[in-house]
Amino acid sequence: MKYGTKILHNGHEIDPHTGALSLPIYQTSTYHQFDMEQPGKYDYSRSGNPTREALEKTLASLENGTYAYAFASGMAAISSALAILKQGDHVIATEDIYGGSYRILTRFFSKFGIETTFVDMTRLDNIREAIRPSTKVLFLESPSNPLLKVTDIIGAVNIAREHNLITMIDNTFMSPYFQRPLELGVDIVIHSATKFLGGHSDVIGGAVITNSEKLAKEIYFVQNGFGAILGPQDCWLLLRGIKTLKARMELQQRSALEIAQWLKAQPWVAEVYYPGLPDHPGHRIQKEQASGFGAVLSFATDTVERAYHIMKKVKLWSVAVSLGGVESILSYPVKMSHAAIPKAERERLGITDRLIRLSVGLEDAEDLMEDLRPE
Ligand SMILES: *Cc1c(COP(=O)(O)O)cnc(C)c1O
Repeated sequence: MKYGTKILHNGHEIDPHTGALSLPIYQTSTYHQFDMEQPGKYDYSRSGNPTREALEKTLASLENGTYAYAFASGMAAISSALAILKQGDHVIATEDIYGGSYRILTRFFSKFGIETTFVDMTRLDNIREAIRPSTKVLFLESPSNPLLKVTDIIGAVNIAREHNLITMIDNTFMSPYFQRPLELGVDIVIHSATKFLGGHSDVIGGAVITNSEKLAKEIYFVQNGFGAILGPQDCWLLLRGIKTLKARMELQQRSALEIAQWLKAQPWVAEVYYPGLPDHPGHRIQKEQASGFGAVLSFATDTVERAYHIMKKVKLWSVAVSLGGVESILSYPVKMSHAAIPKAERERLGITDRLIRLSVGLEDAEDLMEDLRPE
């Protein structure tokens, strides 16, 4: 079965009890046990819920994985996956990791004696040099935010295997439609389902997917224990959003490429960051490890004033954090997603006050370009 078909026909799209083509929202906290001595499959919705189970099986199928767990947000998914670590463990993470992941590692997990080293993973030797005897997890995010830096996933996995590390990847930007890291040897794939999986800017959710029975048990223990589960209504919204994943990713990517090429030709644009452009430093690796380049890109204007002007003049683009929805979003990382990073560190990473990030939606690309053009 081809991937586009599998998105819609993965064996969990029909309610087994009624045949309903839209899986019912099992809005229940608990379940009557018809025979106390032979308890049924479900007993309490923190531990299991049929709507959540359908979503989790769908997510596993999309990533070509065996086990999936749905969480209340992408951050709940990331934190719950990291919660399999113990005191004294060391993490190596990519330096341009999502801001929330940076915060939870440096200000929460650090309290429990879990240390993190952040490295630029576009150079694999940086990973090797950061490994300690206590290193347990290699945490990747590729392409990264907001400069779309690409990590060689297979190269990173090979280093991790040499040193018995668990690899985790935040696959939010690509969605399983374009990149399936379990197939590249990664142990744990994580998503903010809020973005491309949901696709409609109407739900917050997260997911963790793995092929390892051992890791799956540990993650389920955290899911059930911490209880950061996704509620049935939100599971249903994700199931509904996922049905159009292929159509959205294909069309949004097509417009993203068109806009990236157009931006590149504008005299008021200093730099365009999109892995789909042949001169992007990660273009070749991205082509090998993923089937697409996604719908998020960034560009730097010639002057700071120009960046402000564009952020203020746009009418079609929403000015917001978040990405991956059907409506196009413009964000200004310095004041929004990356405001917490000190200026000197931001500048070192290339996140300047001339940088604008785009999440390209389903509007006509021509209208989106016209709206960006400075007066
Ligand atoms: C949004 C995002 C997250 C956090 O997800 P939430 O659903 O907002 O908790 C994590 N990683 C990446 C790459 C994201 O874009």
